[in-house]
Amino acid sequence: MDFQLSEQQQLLLDGFRKFLNQEAKPLVKRYRDQLIPVSEMRSMQRAMQDFGVGTGVLEERLGGMGVDAVTTGLLQFELSRCSPDLAVTALIQNIIGKLIQYVPEPMRQSYLDDVLSVQRFGCVGMSEPDAGSQITAVRCRAVEDGDDYVINGEKMWISNGGYSDFIFLLARFNDDPVGGLGLILVDRDHGYRTSDISKMGLNSQSTAQVSFQDVRVPKSNLMVAPGAAMKTLLISLGGSRPLVSLMALGVAQAALDESIRYSQDRRQHGKPIAGHQLISAKIGEMATKVEAGKLLALKTLSLVDQGERADISAAMSKWFGTQMACDVVSEAMQIHGGNGITTEYPIEYMYRAVRPFMVTEGTNEIQKLSIGRALTGIDAFG
Ligand SMILES: Cc1cc2nc3c(=O)[nH]c(=O)nc-3n(C[C@H](O)[C@H](O)[C@H](O)COP(=O)(O)OP(=O)(O)OC[C@H]3O[C@@H](n4cnc5c(N)ncnc54)[C@H](O)[C@@H]3O)c2cc1C
Repeated sequence: MDFQLSEQQQLLLDGFRKFLNQEAKPLVKRYRDQLIPVSEMRSMQRAMQDFGVGTGVLEERLGGMGVDAVTTGLLQFELSRCSPDLAVTALIQNIIGKLIQYVPEPMRQSYLDDVLSVQRFGCVGMSEPDAGSQITAVRCRAVEDGDDYVINGEKMWISNGGYSDFIFLLARFNDDPVGGLGLILVDRDHGYRTSDISKMGLNSQSTAQVSFQDVRVPKSNLMVAPGAAMKTLLISLGGSRPLVSLMALGVAQAALDESIRYSQDRRQHGKPIAGHQLISAKIGEMATKVEAGKLLALKTLSLVDQGERADISAAMSKWFGTQMACDVVSEAMQIHGGNGITTEYPIEYMYRAVRPFMVTEGTNEIQKLSIGRALTGIDAFG
Protein backbone atom coordinates (compact mmCIF):
# COMPACT_ATOMS: atom_id res chain seq x y z
CA MET A 1 0.00 0.00 0.00
CA ASP A 2 1.28 3.43 -0.94
CA PHE A 3 0.12 6.27 1.29
CA GLN A 4 2.17 8.93 -0.50
CA LEU A 5 0.56 11.40 -2.89
CA SER A 6 2.10 11.38 -6.34
CA GLU A 7 3.98 14.50 -7.42
CA GLN A 8 1.16 15.22 -9.85
CA GLN A 9 -1.50 14.98 -7.10
CA GLN A 10 0.58 17.22 -4.82
CA LEU A 11 0.96 19.87 -7.54
CA LEU A 12 -2.76 19.70 -8.35
CA LEU A 13 -3.78 20.09 -4.71
CA ASP A 14 -1.33 22.97 -4.11
CA GLY A 15 -2.72 24.80 -7.15
CA PHE A 16 -6.30 24.08 -6.13
CA ARG A 17 -5.74 25.38 -2.57
CA LYS A 18 -4.27 28.58 -3.98
CA PHE A 19 -7.26 28.97 -6.31
CA LEU A 20 -9.72 28.38 -3.46
CA ASN A 21 -8.04 30.99 -1.27
CA GLN A 22 -8.01 33.59 -4.02
CA GLU A 23 -11.28 32.94 -5.86
CA ALA A 24 -13.68 30.81 -3.82
CA LYS A 25 -13.19 32.21 -0.31
CA PRO A 26 -14.37 35.75 -1.18
CA LEU A 27 -17.46 34.33 -2.92
CA VAL A 28 -18.50 32.07 -0.03
CA LYS A 29 -17.83 34.86 2.46
CA ARG A 30 -20.10 37.19 0.49
CA TYR A 31 -22.90 34.62 0.43
CA ARG A 32 -22.56 33.18 3.94
CA ASP A 33 -25.95 31.55 4.69
CA GLN A 34 -27.44 32.91 1.45
CA LEU A 35 -28.00 31.09 -1.81
CA ILE A 36 -25.18 31.73 -4.29
CA PRO A 37 -26.97 32.93 -7.46
CA VAL A 38 -26.96 30.34 -10.23
CA SER A 39 -24.82 32.47 -12.58
CA GLU A 40 -22.07 32.80 -9.95
CA MET A 41 -22.35 29.15 -8.99
CA ARG A 42 -21.94 28.23 -12.67
CA SER A 43 -18.84 30.41 -13.09
CA MET A 44 -17.27 28.97 -9.95
CA GLN A 45 -17.99 25.35 -10.91
CA ARG A 46 -16.66 26.03 -14.42
CA ALA A 47 -13.43 27.45 -13.02
CA MET A 48 -13.01 24.49 -10.67
CA GLN A 49 -13.41 22.02 -13.53
CA ASP A 50 -9.93 23.03 -14.72
CA PHE A 51 -8.64 21.23 -11.61
CA GLY A 52 -10.71 18.12 -12.35
CA VAL A 53 -13.50 18.90 -9.88
CA GLY A 54 -17.10 17.85 -10.76
CA THR A 55 -17.27 16.37 -14.25
CA GLY A 56 -13.48 15.92 -14.27
CA VAL A 57 -14.42 12.31 -13.51
CA LEU A 58 -15.62 11.82 -17.12
CA GLU A 59 -13.32 9.90 -19.41
CA GLU A 60 -11.12 11.99 -21.69
CA ARG A 61 -12.78 10.58 -24.81
CA LEU A 62 -16.03 12.14 -23.54
CA GLY A 63 -14.41 15.52 -22.91
CA GLY A 64 -13.62 15.02 -19.22
CA MET A 65 -10.23 14.66 -17.58
CA GLY A 66 -10.50 11.02 -16.48
CA VAL A 67 -9.72 11.99 -12.88
CA ASP A 68 -9.39 8.89 -10.69
CA ALA A 69 -11.53 8.33 -7.60
CA VAL A 70 -8.74 8.94 -5.04
CA THR A 71 -7.81 12.28 -6.63
CA THR A 72 -11.50 13.24 -6.79
CA GLY A 73 -11.70 12.49 -3.06
CA LEU A 74 -8.67 14.63 -2.28
CA LEU A 75 -10.16 17.51 -4.31
CA GLN A 76 -13.56 17.23 -2.60
CA PHE A 77 -11.82 17.27 0.80
CA GLU A 78 -9.93 20.46 -0.05
CA LEU A 79 -13.01 22.09 -1.54
CA SER A 80 -15.16 21.30 1.48
CA ARG A 81 -12.39 22.57 3.76
CA CYS A 82 -13.01 25.90 2.05
CA SER A 83 -16.76 25.58 1.41
CA PRO A 84 -18.99 22.53 1.97
CA ASP A 85 -21.69 24.32 -0.06
CA LEU A 86 -19.53 24.49 -3.19
CA ALA A 87 -18.50 20.88 -2.55
CA VAL A 88 -22.12 19.67 -2.57
CA THR A 89 -22.77 21.26 -5.97
CA ALA A 90 -19.49 19.80 -7.27
CA LEU A 91 -20.51 16.36 -5.99
CA ILE A 92 -23.77 16.54 -7.93
CA GLN A 93 -21.81 17.55 -11.04
CA ASN A 94 -19.65 14.48 -10.44
CA ILE A 95 -22.71 12.20 -10.10
CA ILE A 96 -24.32 13.70 -13.22
CA GLY A 97 -21.02 12.97 -15.02
CA LYS A 98 -21.30 9.30 -14.01
CA LEU A 99 -24.96 8.98 -15.04
CA ILE A 100 -24.85 10.95 -18.30
CA GLN A 101 -23.89 7.81 -20.23
CA TYR A 102 -27.50 6.66 -19.70
CA VAL A 103 -28.99 9.70 -21.47
CA PRO A 104 -30.41 8.24 -24.68
CA GLU A 105 -29.01 9.04 -28.09
CA PRO A 106 -29.33 11.35 -30.01
CA MET A 107 -29.68 13.90 -27.19
CA ARG A 108 -26.71 12.63 -25.13
CA GLN A 109 -24.07 14.76 -26.86
CA SER A 110 -25.92 18.04 -26.33
CA TYR A 111 -26.39 17.30 -22.60
CA LEU A 112 -22.77 16.22 -22.35
CA ASP A 113 -21.57 19.44 -23.99
CA ASP A 114 -23.72 21.60 -21.73
CA VAL A 115 -22.76 19.74 -18.58
CA LEU A 116 -19.07 19.91 -19.40
CA SER A 117 -19.26 23.64 -20.13
CA VAL A 118 -21.56 24.11 -17.09
CA GLN A 119 -24.18 25.73 -19.30
CA ARG A 120 -26.78 23.50 -17.69
CA PHE A 121 -26.99 22.12 -14.17
CA GLY A 122 -28.53 18.74 -13.47
CA CYS A 123 -29.80 17.08 -10.32
CA VAL A 124 -30.72 13.56 -9.24
CA GLY A 125 -34.20 12.99 -7.80
CA MET A 126 -34.71 9.85 -5.75
CA SER A 127 -35.96 10.82 -2.27
CA GLU A 128 -39.56 11.82 -1.64
CA PRO A 129 -41.48 13.08 1.37
CA ASP A 130 -42.49 9.44 2.14
CA ALA A 131 -39.55 7.63 0.56
CA GLY A 132 -36.20 8.29 2.23
CA SER A 133 -34.29 5.32 3.62
CA GLN A 134 -36.92 3.07 2.07
CA ILE A 135 -36.40 4.11 -1.54
CA THR A 136 -38.69 1.34 -2.82
CA ALA A 137 -41.57 3.43 -1.43
CA VAL A 138 -41.14 5.91 -4.33
CA ARG A 139 -44.56 7.07 -5.52
CA CYS A 140 -43.71 9.67 -8.17
CA ARG A 141 -45.45 8.05 -11.10
CA ALA A 142 -44.86 7.96 -14.86
CA VAL A 143 -47.94 6.85 -16.79
CA GLU A 144 -47.85 6.01 -20.52
CA ASP A 145 -49.94 8.23 -22.77
CA GLY A 146 -49.32 7.83 -26.51
CA ASP A 147 -45.68 8.71 -27.22
CA ASP A 148 -45.24 10.31 -23.80
CA TYR A 149 -45.11 9.60 -20.10
CA VAL A 150 -47.17 11.85 -17.86
CA ILE A 151 -45.43 12.38 -14.51
CA ASN A 152 -47.02 13.29 -11.19
CA GLY A 153 -45.40 13.40 -7.75
CA GLU A 154 -42.95 15.12 -5.40
CA LYS A 155 -39.23 14.78 -4.85
CA MET A 156 -37.59 16.00 -1.64
CA TRP A 157 -34.12 17.14 -0.52
CA ILE A 158 -32.82 17.40 -4.08
CA SER A 159 -29.33 18.92 -4.11
CA ASN A 160 -28.93 21.40 -6.98
CA GLY A 161 -32.72 21.17 -7.50
CA GLY A 162 -33.32 24.92 -7.57
CA TYR A 163 -30.35 25.44 -9.90
CA SER A 164 -31.29 22.57 -12.17
CA ASP A 165 -32.09 22.69 -15.88
CA PHE A 166 -32.85 18.96 -15.89
CA ILE A 167 -33.37 16.12 -13.48
CA PHE A 168 -32.47 12.44 -13.62
CA LEU A 169 -35.70 11.23 -12.05
CA LEU A 170 -36.34 7.94 -10.29
CA ALA A 171 -40.01 7.30 -11.05
CA ARG A 172 -42.51 4.50 -10.63
CA PHE A 173 -43.67 2.94 -13.91
CA ASN A 174 -45.58 0.03 -12.34
CA ASP A 175 -46.45 -1.32 -8.89
CA ASP A 176 -43.57 -3.78 -8.51
CA PRO A 177 -41.60 -2.27 -5.53
CA VAL A 178 -38.15 -2.54 -7.21
CA GLY A 179 -38.99 -3.72 -10.74
CA GLY A 180 -41.35 -0.79 -11.24
CA LEU A 181 -38.67 1.88 -10.78
CA GLY A 182 -37.05 3.46 -13.83
CA LEU A 183 -34.85 6.48 -14.48
CA ILE A 184 -36.05 9.19 -16.84
CA LEU A 185 -34.60 12.49 -18.00
CA VAL A 186 -36.93 15.42 -17.41
CA ASP A 187 -36.04 18.88 -18.66
CA ARG A 188 -37.01 22.07 -16.81
CA ASP A 189 -38.85 23.04 -20.02
CA HIS A 190 -41.10 20.00 -19.59
CA GLY A 191 -42.61 21.83 -16.64
CA TYR A 192 -41.32 20.64 -13.25
CA ARG A 193 -41.23 23.21 -10.44
CA THR A 194 -38.76 23.66 -7.60
CA SER A 195 -38.77 25.43 -4.27
CA ASP A 196 -35.67 25.74 -2.11
CA ILE A 197 -35.75 24.30 1.40
CA SER A 198 -34.48 26.50 4.22
CA LYS A 199 -32.05 24.44 6.32
CA MET A 200 -29.83 24.74 9.43
CA GLY A 201 -26.74 24.84 7.17
CA LEU A 202 -25.58 24.46 3.57
CA ASN A 203 -27.87 27.29 2.54
CA SER A 204 -25.42 28.77 0.01
CA GLN A 205 -26.35 25.95 -2.38
CA SER A 206 -29.75 24.71 -3.38
CA THR A 207 -31.57 21.81 -1.71
CA ALA A 208 -35.05 21.75 -3.17
CA GLN A 209 -38.43 20.15 -3.27
CA VAL A 210 -39.29 19.28 -6.88
CA SER A 211 -42.92 19.00 -7.99
CA PHE A 212 -44.37 17.25 -11.03
CA GLN A 213 -47.93 18.01 -11.99
CA ASP A 214 -49.01 16.37 -15.24
CA VAL A 215 -45.50 16.84 -16.62
CA ARG A 216 -45.42 15.38 -20.13
CA VAL A 217 -42.11 13.82 -21.24
CA PRO A 218 -41.41 11.93 -24.50
CA LYS A 219 -40.93 8.19 -24.04
CA SER A 220 -37.57 8.57 -25.77
CA ASN A 221 -36.30 10.29 -22.57
CA LEU A 222 -36.27 7.01 -20.67
CA MET A 223 -32.70 6.50 -19.42
CA VAL A 224 -32.90 3.20 -17.56
CA ALA A 225 -35.88 0.92 -18.07
CA PRO A 226 -38.04 -0.13 -15.11
CA GLY A 227 -36.33 -3.00 -13.32
CA ALA A 228 -32.72 -1.93 -13.86
CA ALA A 229 -32.78 1.55 -12.28
CA MET A 230 -31.97 0.61 -8.68
CA LYS A 231 -28.95 -1.49 -9.71
CA THR A 232 -27.70 1.27 -12.02
CA LEU A 233 -27.99 3.89 -9.27
CA LEU A 234 -26.35 1.62 -6.70
CA ILE A 235 -23.34 1.05 -8.97
CA SER A 236 -23.09 4.67 -10.13
CA LEU A 237 -23.49 6.16 -6.65
CA GLY A 238 -21.29 3.63 -4.81
CA GLY A 239 -18.24 5.88 -5.08
CA SER A 240 -20.14 8.90 -3.73
CA ARG A 241 -20.29 7.74 -0.10
CA PRO A 242 -16.54 8.05 0.56
CA LEU A 243 -16.70 11.45 -1.19
CA VAL A 244 -19.41 12.58 1.26
CA SER A 245 -17.23 11.30 4.08
CA LEU A 246 -14.28 13.33 2.80
CA MET A 247 -16.49 16.41 2.42
CA ALA A 248 -17.54 16.17 6.08
CA LEU A 249 -13.91 15.58 7.05
CA GLY A 250 -12.86 18.63 5.02
CA VAL A 251 -15.10 20.72 7.27
CA ALA A 252 -13.59 18.96 10.29
CA GLN A 253 -10.07 19.74 9.04
CA ALA A 254 -11.00 23.41 8.72
CA ALA A 255 -12.39 23.36 12.29
CA LEU A 256 -9.20 21.69 13.49
CA ASP A 257 -7.06 24.33 11.71
CA GLU A 258 -9.06 27.07 13.45
CA SER A 259 -8.80 25.29 16.80
CA ILE A 260 -5.03 24.95 16.60
CA ARG A 261 -4.69 28.68 15.87
CA TYR A 262 -7.20 29.67 18.56
CA SER A 263 -5.67 27.46 21.25
CA GLN A 264 -2.24 28.95 20.56
CA ASP A 265 -3.55 32.55 20.80
CA ARG A 266 -6.18 32.42 23.50
CA ARG A 267 -4.68 32.77 26.99
CA GLN A 268 -6.37 31.70 30.22
CA HIS A 269 -4.85 30.92 33.63
CA GLY A 270 -1.57 32.51 32.59
CA LYS A 271 -0.85 30.55 29.39
CA PRO A 272 -2.22 29.68 25.94
CA ILE A 273 -5.12 27.28 26.36
CA ALA A 274 -3.14 24.80 24.18
CA GLY A 275 -0.92 24.48 27.25
CA HIS A 276 -3.78 23.00 29.29
CA GLN A 277 -3.76 19.22 29.06
CA LEU A 278 -7.48 18.82 28.35
CA ILE A 279 -7.28 21.17 25.36
CA SER A 280 -4.07 19.62 24.07
CA ALA A 281 -5.66 16.16 24.29
CA LYS A 282 -8.71 17.39 22.40
CA ILE A 283 -6.47 18.61 19.57
CA GLY A 284 -4.73 15.22 19.55
CA GLU A 285 -8.03 13.36 19.35
CA MET A 286 -9.45 15.64 16.66
CA ALA A 287 -6.40 15.25 14.41
CA THR A 288 -6.49 11.45 14.85
CA LYS A 289 -10.20 11.29 14.01
CA VAL A 290 -9.74 13.30 10.81
CA GLU A 291 -6.77 11.18 9.78
CA ALA A 292 -8.54 7.86 10.46
CA GLY A 293 -11.66 8.99 8.59
CA LYS A 294 -9.59 10.17 5.64
CA LEU A 295 -7.62 6.92 5.42
CA LEU A 296 -10.78 4.81 5.38
CA ALA A 297 -12.39 6.96 2.68
CA LEU A 298 -9.24 7.03 0.53
CA LYS A 299 -8.83 3.26 0.90
CA THR A 300 -12.41 2.86 -0.35
CA LEU A 301 -11.74 5.13 -3.32
CA SER A 302 -8.60 3.20 -4.11
CA LEU A 303 -10.75 0.01 -4.28
CA VAL A 304 -13.05 1.87 -6.70
CA ASP A 305 -10.04 2.80 -8.85
CA GLN A 306 -8.94 -0.83 -8.93
CA GLY A 307 -12.43 -1.98 -9.92
CA GLU A 308 -12.74 -3.98 -6.68
CA ARG A 309 -15.87 -4.46 -4.61
CA ALA A 310 -16.19 -1.37 -2.41
CA ASP A 311 -19.74 -1.36 -1.03
CA ILE A 312 -18.89 -2.47 2.54
CA SER A 313 -15.88 -0.19 2.74
CA ALA A 314 -18.00 2.68 1.33
CA ALA A 315 -20.65 2.18 4.01
CA MET A 316 -17.97 2.04 6.72
CA SER A 317 -16.26 5.17 5.48
CA LYS A 318 -19.55 7.07 5.15
CA TRP A 319 -20.79 6.54 8.72
CA PHE A 320 -17.37 6.67 10.35
CA GLY A 321 -16.05 9.74 8.52
CA THR A 322 -19.20 11.81 8.95
CA GLN A 323 -19.55 10.84 12.64
CA MET A 324 -15.89 11.68 13.32
CA ALA A 325 -16.30 14.97 11.47
CA CYS A 326 -19.31 15.96 13.58
CA ASP A 327 -17.43 15.03 16.78
CA VAL A 328 -14.42 17.09 15.70
CA VAL A 329 -16.44 20.20 14.83
CA SER A 330 -18.30 19.93 18.14
CA GLU A 331 -14.99 19.84 20.02
CA ALA A 332 -13.76 22.79 17.97
CA MET A 333 -16.75 24.74 19.22
CA GLN A 334 -15.87 23.82 22.81
CA ILE A 335 -12.27 24.95 22.33
CA HIS A 336 -13.53 28.32 21.08
CA GLY A 337 -15.61 28.86 24.23
CA GLY A 338 -18.20 31.64 23.85
CA ASN A 339 -16.56 32.85 20.65
CA GLY A 340 -17.41 29.49 19.04
CA ILE A 341 -21.11 30.27 18.96
CA THR A 342 -20.76 33.77 17.49
CA THR A 343 -21.04 34.55 13.80
CA GLU A 344 -17.74 36.45 14.04
CA TYR A 345 -15.94 33.11 14.05
CA PRO A 346 -16.40 30.37 11.40
CA ILE A 347 -17.02 27.49 13.83
CA GLU A 348 -20.78 27.93 14.24
CA TYR A 349 -21.15 27.83 10.44
CA MET A 350 -19.11 24.63 10.26
CA TYR A 351 -21.16 23.13 13.11
CA ARG A 352 -24.36 23.72 11.13
CA ALA A 353 -22.86 22.68 7.79
CA VAL A 354 -21.31 19.37 8.83
CA ARG A 355 -24.38 17.84 10.49
CA PRO A 356 -26.44 17.10 7.33
CA PHE A 357 -23.68 14.78 6.09
CA MET A 358 -24.77 12.16 8.66
CA VAL A 359 -28.11 12.02 6.83
CA THR A 360 -27.41 12.47 3.13
CA GLU A 361 -26.36 9.60 0.77
CA GLY A 362 -28.00 7.07 3.10
CA THR A 363 -28.25 7.76 6.83
CA ASN A 364 -25.50 6.48 9.10
CA GLU A 365 -27.94 3.98 10.65
CA ILE A 366 -28.61 2.54 7.19
CA GLN A 367 -24.86 2.29 6.47
CA LYS A 368 -24.33 0.28 9.65
CA LEU A 369 -27.26 -2.02 8.82
CA SER A 370 -25.79 -2.61 5.33
CA ILE A 371 -22.44 -3.60 6.86
CA GLY A 372 -24.20 -5.89 9.35
CA ARG A 373 -26.21 -7.53 6.57
CA ALA A 374 -23.11 -8.07 4.43
CA LEU A 375 -21.21 -9.66 7.33
CA THR A 376 -23.97 -11.82 8.82
CA GLY A 377 -26.13 -12.50 5.77
CA ILE A 378 -29.14 -11.47 7.88
CA ASP A 379 -31.25 -8.44 6.94
CA ALA A 380 -32.13 -6.28 9.97
CA PHE A 381 -33.74 -3.43 8.00
CA GLY A 382 -37.36 -4.48 8.53
C1 LIG B 1 -28.36 17.94 2.53
C2 LIG B 1 -29.09 16.81 1.88
C3 LIG B 1 -28.95 16.60 0.51
C4 LIG B 1 -29.65 15.58 -0.13
N1 LIG B 1 -29.56 15.43 -1.49
C5 LIG B 1 -30.33 14.51 -2.12
C6 LIG B 1 -30.35 14.41 -3.56
O1 LIG B 1 -29.65 15.16 -4.26
N2 LIG B 1 -31.17 13.50 -4.13
C7 LIG B 1 -31.96 12.67 -3.41
O2 LIG B 1 -32.68 11.86 -3.99
N3 LIG B 1 -31.95 12.72 -2.05
C8 LIG B 1 -31.17 13.61 -1.38
N4 LIG B 1 -31.17 13.69 0.00
C9 LIG B 1 -32.06 12.82 0.75
C10 LIG B 1 -31.37 11.78 1.60
O3 LIG B 1 -30.87 10.75 0.78
C11 LIG B 1 -32.41 11.31 2.62
O4 LIG B 1 -32.60 12.38 3.54
C12 LIG B 1 -31.96 10.08 3.36
O5 LIG B 1 -31.97 8.97 2.52
C13 LIG B 1 -32.86 9.80 4.57
O6 LIG B 1 -34.22 9.85 4.24
P1 LIG B 1 -35.22 10.67 5.18
O7 LIG B 1 -34.67 12.03 5.34
O8 LIG B 1 -36.58 10.53 4.61
O9 LIG B 1 -35.15 9.97 6.60
P2 LIG B 1 -35.92 8.63 7.01
O10 LIG B 1 -35.67 7.54 6.05
O11 LIG B 1 -37.33 8.96 7.36
O12 LIG B 1 -35.15 8.26 8.37
C14 LIG B 1 -35.45 8.87 9.65
C15 LIG B 1 -34.60 8.16 10.69
O13 LIG B 1 -34.98 6.79 10.78
C16 LIG B 1 -33.86 5.94 10.57
N5 LIG B 1 -34.26 4.75 9.86
C17 LIG B 1 -34.99 4.64 8.71
N6 LIG B 1 -35.17 3.35 8.39
C18 LIG B 1 -34.53 2.62 9.33
C19 LIG B 1 -34.34 1.23 9.57
N7 LIG B 1 -34.80 0.30 8.72
N8 LIG B 1 -33.64 0.85 10.64
C20 LIG B 1 -33.12 1.75 11.50
N9 LIG B 1 -33.26 3.09 11.34
C21 LIG B 1 -33.96 3.50 10.27
C22 LIG B 1 -32.87 6.80 9.75
O14 LIG B 1 -31.55 6.34 9.89
C23 LIG B 1 -33.10 8.17 10.36
O15 LIG B 1 -32.36 8.28 11.54
C24 LIG B 1 -30.46 14.70 0.64
C25 LIG B 1 -30.56 14.89 2.03
C26 LIG B 1 -29.89 15.92 2.66
C27 LIG B 1 -30.03 16.10 4.14
